[in-house]
Amino acid sequence: MSELVPITVARGDGIGPEIMEATLRVLQAAGARIAPEFIDIGEQQYLAGHSSGIAPEAWESLRRTRVFLKAPITTPQGGGFKSLNVTIRKTLGLYANVRPCVSYAPFVRTLHPKMNLVIVRENEEDLYAGIEHRQTDEVFQCLKLITRPGCEKIVRYAFDYARRHGRRKVTCMTKDNIMKMTDGLFHRVFDEVAREYPEIETEHLIIDIGAARLATRPERFDVIVTPNLYGDILSDIAAELTGSVGLAPSANIGDHVAMFESIHGSAPDIAGKGIANPSGLLLAAVLMLVHIGQPAVAETIHNAWLRTIEDGVHTAELHGSLSIGRPFGSMDFADAVIERLGQRPQKLAAVHYGEVDRDAPVQVARVATVAPHRRAAAAKAMVGVDVFVHAAGVSADFLAGQLSALLTPPFALQMITNRGVKVWPGGFPETFCTDHWRCRFVAPQGQSVTHADIIGLLQGLTARGVDVIKTENLCTFDGERGYALGQGQ
Ligand code: NAD
Repeated sequence: MSELVPITVARGDGIGPEIMEATLRVLQAAGARIAPEFIDIGEQQYLAGHSSGIAPEAWESLRRTRVFLKAPITTPQGGGFKSLNVTIRKTLGLYANVRPCVSYAPFVRTLHPKMNLVIVRENEEDLYAGIEHRQTDEVFQCLKLITRPGCEKIVRYAFDYARRHGRRKVTCMTKDNIMKMTDGLFHRVFDEVAREYPEIETEHLIIDIGAARLATRPERFDVIVTPNLYGDILSDIAAELTGSVGLAPSANIGDHVAMFESIHGSAPDIAGKGIANPSGLLLAAVLMLVHIGQPAVAETIHNAWLRTIEDGVHTAELHGSLSIGRPFGSMDFADAVIERLGQRPQKLAAVHYGEVDRDAPVQVARVATVAPHRRAAAAKAMVGVDVFVHAAGVSADFLAGQLSALLTPPFALQMITNRGVKVWPGGFPETFCTDHWRCRFVAPQGQSVTHADIIGLLQGLTARGVDVIKTENLCTFDGERGYALGQGQ
């Protein structure tokens, strides 16, 4: 048990070094068995010419220790700088973003005193793949990618998290009434995986009503699992509802590496003053200790921290009627937590992370937590093609006439849509049309087509001046349609 676990630590920018020093002081006093290795990331690295804010040599430490405790960094203003967080998440495959959001009423003012939920956000896919294109004068596109392995990993992670932490319900939020294929897959995988966890209550909410209920009745939620974009938005709403974003930690978990940080930024307005609240980072370190198999130390620190908060020891931004004395500085706050190590809160609920776990330790962070189930390839048949065309100042009927004259076998023009609305055949004059048309070509009676057929079609179209932007093949998988029907069908 005495083995020290190497962890990579970044002090960050702005208030980062102050809150990291306070955090490490508490960890050391509590007997955390860690051996920090420091790397430089952030503003200086950006300005030194590393466009992602991280020097190449820092990756070596991250890939070796596989555990990253990170203070916030400053992203310089101006173009050409990439988000360090997005780079780290994608490069290291940190697929789960876990954010506990807890109220500490009455010590931290909030309208929702009973809130205690965890948002498990998918962290790599969805609209964050960064695949964007300008296609015409008027139309820009961002691809939303949802994969079955990605859904299985995040949903199973959420259920495993619920089971490990004694949580009773997992809520899935998607918009599958509109995005039937992408969000529909996420929902379907949720239903499939849920069957493996019969003791856990489940529900699915459409994201709009789900977000509304979260904002008005957060106490009805326990664990929420959701795709990337919804999770990004929901987790900020949830953190804000607790009364202070300054207290919220987050964990970014992958099969190989995990990163722990506060959710707030580098707060340049108060940097160097020694008044920043180190709580978000300290609670992130608590998540880290649980992750590396030191739950007893995590529990000791977390309960001492809760006791500190309810004793009225508050940094400036939390200072109020229940605070004692003057606002505490970052290091004085850390010392107050240290004084209370071994104590438990008397009014707030104490946490329990389990006994020192001889089965879990260190390797919890080192092995794949969830292996996606790889299925046999489906029988795939190509039955047509959607050809996207840039054409300004034309009507759908005119375009249909033009395309019909250029058809090559075996294709027939089945329909044209504009922004997803069917405008031919049988379009309405009221429908607003842009210069971006999706033209669906299929073979009669559902017969299959070949790539050569599609290339022949495209050659015919482009030779006569049709500006083809892109194509999407229409396929069936084991006989099941692998594409959406146009709206209005
Ligand atoms: P911010 O979170 O840094 O600050 C917002 C407000 O909250 C400020 O008034 C600040 O003083 C206060 N605040 C934040 N943390 C606090 C703490 N621990 N104690 C007391 N008060 C605290 O957000 P911002 O001002 O929008 O961003 C500043 C910089 O941080 C930007 O460069 C941004 O890109 C970066 N940022 C980094 C991360 C990260 O590294 N994960 C996250 C968000 C923002």
